[in-house]
Amino acid sequence: MTATLEQAVGPNFGFGLYVHWPYCARICPYCDFNVYTNKESGADALVTAICADIRQHRQALSAHRTLDTVYFGGGTPSLLKPQNIYKILQTAAETFGIKRDAEITLEANPNNISHDSCAAWADIGINRLSIGAQSFNDTALGFLGRDHNAATARSAVNIASEQFQNISLDMIYARPGQSLAEWEQELASALELATPHLSLYELTIEAPTAFGKRVARGELTPLKEDDQADLYELTQAICDAAGRPAYEVSNHAASTAFQSRHNQVYWSSGDWIGVGPGAHGRLTYDHQRLATLAERRPGDYIKRIATGTGGAQTALSNLDIARELVAMALRSEQGLDVTRLPALTYPTPSDAQIEAVKQNGLLQQQGYHLSLTQSGRLLADHIAAELSP
Ligand code: SF4
Repeated sequence: MTATLEQAVGPNFGFGLYVHWPYCARICPYCDFNVYTNKESGADALVTAICADIRQHRQALSAHRTLDTVYFGGGTPSLLKPQNIYKILQTAAETFGIKRDAEITLEANPNNISHDSCAAWADIGINRLSIGAQSFNDTALGFLGRDHNAATARSAVNIASEQFQNISLDMIYARPGQSLAEWEQELASALELATPHLSLYELTIEAPTAFGKRVARGELTPLKEDDQADLYELTQAICDAAGRPAYEVSNHAASTAFQSRHNQVYWSSGDWIGVGPGAHGRLTYDHQRLATLAERRPGDYIKRIATGTGGAQTALSNLDIARELVAMALRSEQGLDVTRLPALTYPTPSDAQIEAVKQNGLLQQQGYHLSLTQSGRLLADHIAAELSP
């Protein structure tokens, strides 16, 4: 029997909907996402366009089954009125259907979390909150340009915990000048809140951001790579001891039940629809895997959806698909099932390639499965390149 593209990638490996809400109360100096300062007035028109975008996707994806996950990211989607979130969820339910036990996540700014907002979100079907705490140190929060303080973040998590079991905290570390002791204290504050999931990201400074411009002017010096690696190792040791081991390069969970199912769709090379300005998607149908990219500016996105053409679509080559499959799979503890590569007409990595990485203690192998060790995760991109076709 001939292997098909669908045996390597696509909805058999998970099917999600990503909704990008591009507005924030203010723009953080390190942010490299497609974001704009909040504009109440355009919100309803954008929600209408997002719903139309989901319907347009349904026409192309007639064979795609019910959604496993929905993720409201951004930007700050917790600025959306609950009735608008509901409208989007209803559209998804009417077009594709949402599984009964689907994971439905909302990214939330601590400032938007209250007893009322949590009750409203739970009422419309949100069952997972990802709270952007970023730090529990007021000086660090000021440096990061955040619009909340540590006390607000703590209280937000406590309020949310009364309504939601499945909560993730986002934290940023490896800031310029951050010491091991400072990070240890911040991480301890995060762990005290006992959320079952943590996303711990190292600060990366991209050239177009305000931080990037400060670096170019010599006003800010990024942390050295060795210091970043020390912080990463400290993070693993503390989280392991606290019962929050890493299951992916930056993600930690108390158990498999609390691992992010939506991110798993990305790491498994499943399919996801990306709607909202600047959203990316991956869609597999008609023997092709398409990378989709919606118009970036909200006004352009609304206009484009009105003409029924959606965003840009690029058919990926088998080589692109194979490289993405390897790179994404190696990020998570589930690792890479090498038997998926021949369906893309690429051979599995050779024994010599595998042995070279294994010898350095960076890779483990169980039958046809390859996964990275803890030290391997620090070099995930490099190892993916070594093992890629
Ligand atoms: S709140 Fe998040 S998405 Fe918005 S500007 Fe800050 S980092 Fe970017």
